[in-house]
Amino acid sequence: MIKDIVRDKDFLSQVAEPATADDAEVGQDLVDTMGSIEGCACLAANQIGSTKAVIAYEENGRVHVMYNPKLVAYMQPFPAVESCLSLEEQSPVQRFNLIRVSYQVLADGKLQNRTKKFSGWTAEIIQHAIDHTKGVLV
Ligand SMILES: [Zn+2]
Repeated sequence: MIKDIVRDKDFLSQVAEPATADDAEVGQDLVDTMGSIEGCACLAANQIGSTKAVIAYEENGRVHVMYNPKLVAYMQPFPAVESCLSLEEQSPVQRFNLIRVSYQVLADGKLQNRTKKFSGWTAEIIQHAIDHTKGVLV
């Protein structure tokens, strides 16, 4: 279901709760909502009103959903300036060009563990979305 974007900073500053296999709807809502917003690169569940640790990001025209994503390794820091659907202004922030992320995917009704490396733009938007799960706004 397409949801409204949350801009309440108190709500967005809360650390997300662990997601479970019962949170499939949150993942679907992220996909639906991203699809409704032109140029939306990533979205975290708290931006659509859920307190769970779920994010979505776009890569090569496809939207991917991660449950309980965590940055487990990061290299090559660089300064970035990012905008956010939940904020009016752009913000300077340090990102890493190479990252490894542990996360879960929902398959056959169960959460399954994955680890994957990302670089460049995709790495940057995933870091932005993971920050949202920690209650951090850029
Ligand atoms: Zn954001």
